Amino acid sequence: EKFKEGLTKTRDNFSGKVNDLVARYRKVDEEFFEELEEILIGADVGFDTVMELIEELKLEVKRKNIQDPREVQAVISEKLVEIYENAGEVPNGLNIQKDELTVILFVGVNGVGKTTTIGKLAHKFKTEGKTVLLAAGDTFRAGAIDQLEVWGERVGVDVIKQGEGSDPAAVMYDAVRAAKSRGADILLCDTAGRLQNKVNLMKELEKVKRVIEREIPGAPHEVLLVLDATTGQNALIQTKTFKEVTDVSGIVLTKLDGTAKGGIVLAIRNELKIPVKFVGLGEKMDDLQEFDSEKYVYGLFA
Ligand code: GDP
Repeated sequence: EKFKEGLTKTRDNFSGKVNDLVARYRKVDEEFFEELEEILIGADVGFDTVMELIEELKLEVKRKNIQDPREVQAVISEKLVEIYENAGEVPNGLNIQKDELTVILFVGVNGVGKTTTIGKLAHKFKTEGKTVLLAAGDTFRAGAIDQLEVWGERVGVDVIKQGEGSDPAAVMYDAVRAAKSRGADILLCDTAGRLQNKVNLMKELEKVKRVIEREIPGAPHEVLLVLDATTGQNALIQTKTFKEVTDVSGIVLTKLDGTAKGGIVLAIRNELKIPVKFVGLGEKMDDLQEFDSEKYVYGLFA
């Protein structure tokens, strides 16, 4: 239900147009496909993915000898789910360690909703009965540490921090030590989101990862890139850039509730081969949902 609600804007935009399209056409012809193509591009599904989808649709229409445009609608959903699921392996959910500390690193540019996502996830894990700790690794942006502490208080989890301007790797060292000695289940680590200097950011993230890995072999267990869905194709560019800077294991797409162009999920998954693990559907604590391609695609039409 949350999923459906969060997709309202995209659905109104997308399925409204598709409904209108299938109502206007009497047969499924080239022109029909061209209009559909435009609608999909307009929803930020991404050029390559749209081309792939249209190809698949044409084949299916031919195979099933579909004449009525209204019948194409169901095929669109089927094919969208298929494209998403077939774009490489789809690891469901997070790589959580059993009976051991799981370390998750969050990367992403400022303002995308990184802190909020960490807060929401902390809440989610806490609700599941897990012990959670936060690491204030963004020592660069003024106010970042305070902001994380506000979330820590709201959710009821501790934040390991040092002063603004301190070495993020030193914060991580403290945080991992604290998490181990307290027997915590989950450590969620914030990082600085400055992309202005890619080399510096790369060095910083490498150092942070090295410190974590030295304390816990195999960690960090996830590196989640947080992206703002309302930035559209910009999110794709950010993903490409972060892939150059560090290994990204998954994506959290925030503010899906605030965009009519939720098709970006498909573009990211299909063109960059990175799974979207969570989506943000609002500003509140429980406005975070595990991503589910079927719920998503059917939510676009339902
Ligand atoms: P950060 O700079 O990346 O840490 O970004 P913040 O966590 O401070 O978030 C920036 C703004 O986006 C805040 O006003 C959040 O409330 C808002 N925000 C974050 N996630 C979502 C979401 O899923 N939906 C909506 N509507 N707003 C969000």
